Amino acid sequence: MEKVTDYFGTMVFDDRIMKATLSEKVYKSLKRTIDRGTPLDISVANAVAAAMKDWAIEKGATHYTHWFQPMTGVTAEKHDSFISPAPDGRVIMEFSGKELVKGEPDASSFPSGGLRATFEARGYTAWDPTSYAFIKDGTLYIPTAFCSYTGEALDKKVPLLRSMEALNRQALRILKLFGNDKVKSVKTSVGPEQEYFLVDRELWKQRKDLIMTGRTLFGAMPPKGQEMEDHYFGTIKPRVAEYMADLDKELWKLGILAKTKHNEVAPAQHELAPIYDTTNIAADHNQLTMEVMQKVAQRHGLVCLLHEKPFAGVNGSGKHNNWSISTDQGVNLLSPGETPYENAQFLLFLAAVIKAVDDYQDLLRLSVATAGNDHRLGANEAPPAVISIFLGDELTSVLEAIENDAPYGGYEKEKMQLGVDVLPKFSKDTTDRNRTSPFAFTGNKFEFRMLGSSNSISCANIHLNAAVAEELRQFADQLEKAKDFESALHELIRDTIKAHKRIIFNGNGYDDAWIEEAEKRGLLNLKTTADAMPKICDKKNVEMLTSHGIFTEAEIFSRRDIMLENYIKTVNIEAQTMIDMARKEIIPAVAKFAADTASAVSVKSSVASVACKYEKKLITELSGLVDEMDEATTVLEEKVAQLKDIEVIVEAAEFIRDEVLPAMEALRAAADKAEPVTSAEYWPFPTYDKLLFGV
Ligand code: ADP
Ligand code: MG
Repeated sequence: MEKVTDYFGTMVFDDRIMKATLSEKVYKSLKRTIDRGTPLDISVANAVAAAMKDWAIEKGATHYTHWFQPMTGVTAEKHDSFISPAPDGRVIMEFSGKELVKGEPDASSFPSGGLRATFEARGYTAWDPTSYAFIKDGTLYIPTAFCSYTGEALDKKVPLLRSMEALNRQALRILKLFGNDKVKSVKTSVGPEQEYFLVDRELWKQRKDLIMTGRTLFGAMPPKGQEMEDHYFGTIKPRVAEYMADLDKELWKLGILAKTKHNEVAPAQHELAPIYDTTNIAADHNQLTMEVMQKVAQRHGLVCLLHEKPFAGVNGSGKHNNWSISTDQGVNLLSPGETPYENAQFLLFLAAVIKAVDDYQDLLRLSVATAGNDHRLGANEAPPAVISIFLGDELTSVLEAIENDAPYGGYEKEKMQLGVDVLPKFSKDTTDRNRTSPFAFTGNKFEFRMLGSSNSISCANIHLNAAVAEELRQFADQLEKAKDFESALHELIRDTIKAHKRIIFNGNGYDDAWIEEAEKRGLLNLKTTADAMPKICDKKNVEMLTSHGIFTEAEIFSRRDIMLENYIKTVNIEAQTMIDMARKEIIPAVAKFAADTASAVSVKSSVASVACKYEKKLITELSGLVDEMDEATTVLEEKVAQLKDIEVIVEAAEFIRDEVLPAMEALRAAADKAEPVTSAEYWPFPTYDKLLFGV
């Protein structure tokens, strides 16, 4: 048996390999670039490229690729081989520093939302040395950022790195006020918990909807769903266990710290969580994890579904973005400290997060908005579409005490003075009981639970980092001017809690009463992508994002368009697939079953004069349903045709929300009524029971 420690990270050009293969001078210079973002000079790049190439060739690689994350949401790559002709007809393997640091993929077919007209299609990729290169399928992968020649971000990594930098800048100002001069950098870390479904590949192949859209567009509920609650943390079936073991191994080779795996709530649903890492690395690793999950599934005769809602009526899949901020000295700024001073610092960062989530509810909501995720949020399984923060009772009462200058807990006589009292330790147990909150404090980190399973985590973290950076900037502006730091700090925290406590909610987020209450509190309830996405262009958001250099105004508008276009295209494909399945598969099947039953009636009654009561009733019901499905399909066809004529993108998205999706629902409802009364022999594709319990 191979040992994990022997193969972990073997496919990664990591620090160990760098140290072993680079000269000390080159290594040190590269480290400076990685840790502090100092520019890399070309002689260093050349030396690194040469070492990378030798290492990769040794491992059997023949190609290299600049790997990037365009706005499509999936990663992109263009492979070049290392070969270069030698004069004598041989080839030599070459890879220069220039090729390492910069690539020029033909950028014209990636979405840019009008940022880059096709006639000036040039975009370039730039090496992100903070994320290690790795080998996959015989190719050396170089994580890169993707920009236009005029410097606009065309991907999700550039703004993510910018948001981390913005947070770093502002957090350092705050830390300085607390006398922390030694801290050189502040970084955010993320541990994304990834949910997914596994279905049998042979069954999957028979469903056009799964193949084309990743989710089932039809399907009546099976006799058993998730009501027995026997799947969550249940015993893992052997076939799934083999898949998970294989997956872990592949991820470990790529240096991904896959740590936890278990069954989830729905049948056939599972979860994988890695150990947390710096946000941009976590983002790269999560993209890679999703890809490897799908690839490994193939080897096991399975398909891994990452769609947010593969099965209606069954829990969907999300991703929990566990997020914290820490210093290069290893201090987690979201962890209540040991000393009163540390605690005051903790409370200030906490206040910044609370204010950020309240001020930028819209940005957080839209950062996770996709057609797929709209099926989850607010559907009593995932957090509601309303953003709120769960803090737990203990921390909430600490904040209440501060707000009212009242005594807290054991400190009966004294007022709770910041910088005086020691905070209680918030154990995970007292903070993490609430699973319904979209944004929960879990002891020393926040868990943003609204992400969809297929979302890139970049968008959520870009907006989260940016919003918190903005609040820290405001705090720093105020505190730097203060004559008496301690009292200014106390006031600032108190006033912030007062002004933003409406965002704190510790109750059950699935409760309808909460939605009413949230409305009273003035919190946003952006139910769909069509509602949420346009908000990115609101003045306050544009001002904030541009002032921190996260996006330019043009980038913001282009991103709105790309995301809305994505929403429209996704639903349009789903609608077309439904029409196709209804017209070519479902309606003919049900009609045939009715016709065969009718001929059975005529045969039966020609032999003996029997009443055929059952058959006649069935024929009437089936014919009625066939008509209903036909009519619903016609309506959907009309809607899809009308959609083509809408040119304004925001209007098209609203048309999707108001007309196309309801028409799809109506067609589905008719077909789902037909399924249970149609003989299984006639039903054209595998039903939910087989898909959900077939592995
Ligand atoms: P659960 O939410 O299922 O109870 P855990 O508490 O084990 O799970 O953690 C879930 C994820 O949070 C893991 O990926 C873990 O590495 C990550 N995590 C733990 N501590 C931190 C932290 N300080 N910052 C960011 N992520 C963290
Ligand atoms: Mg969790």
